[in-house]
Amino acid sequence: MRVCKKCEKNLTADEVGLNLKLIDRSGTEFLCIDCLAAYLKLPRDDLIAMADRFRKTGCVLFPKKPSSL
Ligand SMILES: [Zn+2]
Repeated sequence: MRVCKKCEKNLTADEVGLNLKLIDRSGTEFLCIDCLAAYLKLPRDDLIAMADRFRKTGCVLFPKKPSSL
């Protein structure tokens, strides 16, 4: 299980996907949605919407089944 490098919260597949999509495709360190929102200075809801949008476009980084963000 991957954890946030800042707060050590367990990460969902969507959170890992957002890190790869928005920060570094080959990244090995990941942030949870809250730390990611702070880092990118974006509202958390925008990131969740983004994950949903990527999922709808069939991006392999985002599993079909919605996770509990
Ligand atoms: Zn975090």
